[in-house]
Formats: sequence, structure tokens, C-alpha cells
Amino acid sequence: MKPETLNQPSDANKPTARICVVIPCYNEEEVLPWAMDKLQTMLQRLKRETGAYGSLLLVDDGSRDRTWQLIEQFAAQHSNVSGIKLSHNEGHQGALWAGMQESLEICDAMVSIDADLQDDENTIIDMTRQFLSGCDIVYGVRKERKTDTWFKRMTALTFYRIMQTADPEIIYNHADFRLMSNRTVRALMQYPERNMFLRGMVRQLGFSEGYVYYNRTARTAGESKYPFTKMLSFSIDGITSFSTAPLKFITFAGLTMTLISMLIIIYGLFEHFMGKTIVGWTSLMVSMWFIGGVITTGVGIVGMYIGKIYTEVKRRPRYFVDRKVGVKVNKE
Ligand code: UDP
Ligand code: MG
Repeated sequence: MKPETLNQPSDANKPTARICVVIPCYNEEEVLPWAMDKLQTMLQRLKRETGAYGSLLLVDDGSRDRTWQLIEQFAAQHSNVSGIKLSHNEGHQGALWAGMQESLEICDAMVSIDADLQDDENTIIDMTRQFLSGCDIVYGVRKERKTDTWFKRMTALTFYRIMQTADPEIIYNHADFRLMSNRTVRALMQYPERNMFLRGMVRQLGFSEGYVYYNRTARTAGESKYPFTKMLSFSIDGITSFSTAPLKFITFAGLTMTLISMLIIIYGLFEHFMGKTIVGWTSLMVSMWFIGGVITTGVGIVGMYIGKIYTEVKRRPRYFVDRKVGVKVNKE
């Protein structure tokens, strides 16, 4: 991988910044060829406009289709493309983590972007400009969500609202499209947790940050790898990994319930001594189910946290690389 430094008369002595674009791919055979073309065109523009040398690192997240074969082909055809294949599907966050770790040796800053290029890849040029002028982390923020379905828009909005009350640092409408300098990636790699919610973790790193705004487009091919169930579990993960708000909420709800039940006891006793009691089947059943529901929810929420503690204490490795193509250390 030899950076083309020859046609760079003006600031030839300046070391060329190396930007690595990390792309997690899970069953993306339909979009990959199209996405690679667009990314390569963008990288040429990046070189022309900023002088930075760009490479692509594709992370195959245990795909079952021809994604890995395509990655091998790209790596054979282009010197700036490399790929790693994870031995198992680790999920978007896991694949990104693997990509970040692998990118450390080959670049000065990495940008994470989804394979479907719903996030405008040309934004990377602006991100790089901000990096070159001293920013460590540059967040890509969506301007609007016109292209998302109504359902996706509503669920995402609710998610960000809940997240923002739980953790005010979360950036509204920023997904995982961002640039991170090498030293911030290194800092992130020191986080030992296995329940990863990267956009929250990165925010806690600090360092100097910048923003670029862009319009998100619709997926051109293939389908979303985030069906509703996965989205829901990702949101629950985000909330429970990042805050104890649900615990506080359930405690508060429990206390309120206790207060209300005390009032009901007083009322019940009063009615009893006034001789007005009737066989209270309805109230009994209702309260039994209601309290039972509250207790179960409480136990469930506590269980989620215990589940997380369980996965954390196991300290299992995050991922294994099955194969690699084209990953070389760029010494320039
Ligand atoms: N992805 C992954 N592993 C998974 C699911 C998704 O690496 O288990 C990748 C996927 O290939 C894509 C990115 O994560 O590059 C985002 O997925 P998608 O575009 O389907 O999500 P959406 O945009 O619908 O939220
Ligand atoms: Mg997408």
C-alpha cells in the first residue's frame, strides 16, 4: 500500500494523513460492489482535496452469503482495500469494534460507516478536514429523517428521547457514522465492557470534537439488518448499559404503589368498620394482578442488569478473526 505522494507539490513535506474507512458488513453482497465504487470515488476526491490517503477496511461479520468472497476480490483488485472475516456474527457494534482495533496499525484516523452508505460518504471529506485542523472526534449528525419509514422515525425519536433523559450526553440523531483519531480509538479500546453501546461510550472519552451535518438517504439494495426485534433489543441494551434510570424508575413506581396501597388499606378498613363491605372479588383480583405485574417488571429490570453483570464478569473475548486479506502495516 504505497501512498501516492508524488503529485503533491505544495505541501510535499507534510506527512500524509492516513484515513481508514471501516465498514461492517453482514450479508451485504447486494450493496457491496456499488458501495465500493462510490467509496473509491470519494477516496480519490479526498486525496485531491485534502491530500489525505484513504483506505477501506471491510469487516465481514460472519455473513452467510458471498460477502467474504467479494471482499477477497476487492482486496486483490485494489491495494487500498483490506478485509477481516470474523468467525461468528457479533452484531454491528462488535464488528465495528473489531474493525477499529484492526485499523489502529494502518491509519491515523478511522471513520466508521455502514455498508449501505445511507450516510453520505462524501461527508468523510469534511470530517477529514476537521481532523486535519485538530479535531479528534468528528460526529456525523443526520439533518432529517425524510427517507426513513414513519415507524422507524417514531421509534428512533422515542429512543433518542429516552436516551437523552437517561444520558444527556447522547447526541441526537448521531448513529455510528463518525471519525476518530488514533489516540481516541486507543482510549476507547481500554473500555473493558462487553455490552457495547459505542455512540455513548465515545461521547465519554472527551477530547476535542466536531460535527458535520448530512442528509441520510434510503437503503438502495438489500434489506435492513436491523428488523424491529433487533432494534428493540439494541435500544434496551443502550438504555440499560448506559444508565440506571430504569432502576430508579421502578423504585419510584414501587414507592408510589406502596403509598397508594396504604391509602386503599385505610379506605378499606374504614369501609369495613362502617359495615359496608361486600365480597371484594374484583378489587382483589385487580390489585393482585396489578401488583404482580409491577413486581415482575421490577424483577425483570433487575434481572437485565444482573444479566449484564454476568456477561461482564465472564470477560469473554469480543471477537475472533477467522481470515484476513490485504491487511498490511502502512509505514508511510
Ligand atoms: N451489520 C453487522 N452485523 C449485524 C447487523 C448489521 O455488521 O449483525 C452491519 C450491516 O452490514 C450494515 C450496518 O451494520 O453495514 C448497519 O445495518 P443496517 O443498514 O441493516 O441497519 P439500519 O440502517 O437499518 O439501522
Ligand atoms: Mg442502513
